[in-house]
Amino acid sequence: MTGHLRIASAFVQTLWAGRADRSRAAFESWQAGILRRWLERDLPAVDFYRAAPPRLAALPVIDKATVMADFAAFNRGRIPAEDGWRAFETTGRIDAVSIGASTGTSGNRALYAITEAEQDRWLGTIVAKAVPRFLVEPERVAVILPQNSALYDGANRSRLLRLQFFDLRQGFESWLRALETFAPTTIVAPPRVLRHLAEQSERLKPRRLFAAAETLDPVDRTVIEARFGGKLGQIYMATEGLLAVSCAKGRLHLAEDANLFEFEPVADGLVTPLVTGFRRRFQIMARYRMNDLLRLSGCPCACGSPLRVVDEVVGRMDDVFLFDRPDGVRLLLTPDVMRNAVLDAARRITDFRILREERDRVVLVLEPKLGEESARAAQCALQQVFSGRGLFPEIAVRRETMAFEGHRKLRRVENRFRPEDGR
Ligand SMILES: [Zn+2]
Repeated sequence: MTGHLRIASAFVQTLWAGRADRSRAAFESWQAGILRRWLERDLPAVDFYRAAPPRLAALPVIDKATVMADFAAFNRGRIPAEDGWRAFETTGRIDAVSIGASTGTSGNRALYAITEAEQDRWLGTIVAKAVPRFLVEPERVAVILPQNSALYDGANRSRLLRLQFFDLRQGFESWLRALETFAPTTIVAPPRVLRHLAEQSERLKPRRLFAAAETLDPVDRTVIEARFGGKLGQIYMATEGLLAVSCAKGRLHLAEDANLFEFEPVADGLVTPLVTGFRRRFQIMARYRMNDLLRLSGCPCACGSPLRVVDEVVGRMDDVFLFDRPDGVRLLLTPDVMRNAVLDAARRITDFRILREERDRVVLVLEPKLGEESARAAQCALQQVFSGRGLFPEIAVRRETMAFEGHRKLRRVENRFRPEDGR
């Protein structure tokens, strides 16, 4: 199949799989059929699963560490991690396979390997979900992320839509003018970047905006939607693939047409997903534990799609605050609970950080210009979140200007305490 045909076929299949008049039961039986074929045909093509039974429940749960410990065992080309890293640093390819890596600290990055056919499928899928009317409403898509991806190559190769990448690692000023001249109709960027654009650029007039790559906090959503009008969408994607995209009604639907999701409960109704990417054939990922915390929705979406709705991607599992109470009870405080307490306590807060710096010390960072009364209200509200659970860490307030940093991922709630540090 040629690239265009592959993209078109993924586009049509995606619209068809998630079509509005399809029942959940019909969707699940279609999904089960594709999954079964993948388990029988594609899964055993890599060494890690050579002798595995073709039943999902019988497979081990894996994570980034499992895959990176023996990268060659998870891809059909038996590409070892060393070769992958070398390719990533140089040409980005090994033969016809593109090699990419996640962002993150050096010891914590993961490789991925993807074929041209998979890139085309990815493109057809994301276009169907994010800009389904691109044939009648031509799109210029600006992607502003800290790292270019082999996935975007397919877009320009296909010439179906114009897609331009802007490198967040370069200073904002270095590409703002070029972005304005490109005049994107759709912008995909981390929420803090969209907010920065909302505050700094008067020339941009996109029809559609998608927050990607970082947690979307309500403080940013408000500013972005007020400036650009319309509802801010979300694209939840990772090295592991395209995991969820907002629909026209603004709700975030899991990409169950390409992945099977299982969920492990964490706390307060939050779950972390295990992802099986049944459309990926070169690098195999089955029951892969993500580091993300999701709040699933109990109600279907008015758009009629049978794909499951996520109310919120709350943050990362790493940023949950874990406490062992003296009575032996282990407590988890998730980022959303702390964030909401602070924002609800003082409406004037437009930015903040909540950092657990030591076992019993949490720092609330607030802007210097915020009034004393609001700061105290936020501090008290945060204190109550802890005391309500029988926890009494010191809650310190620090005043700091929180500058825009292009290259660093924003984590407003961040756990910097690691018990193994012994502090
Ligand atoms: Zn919907």
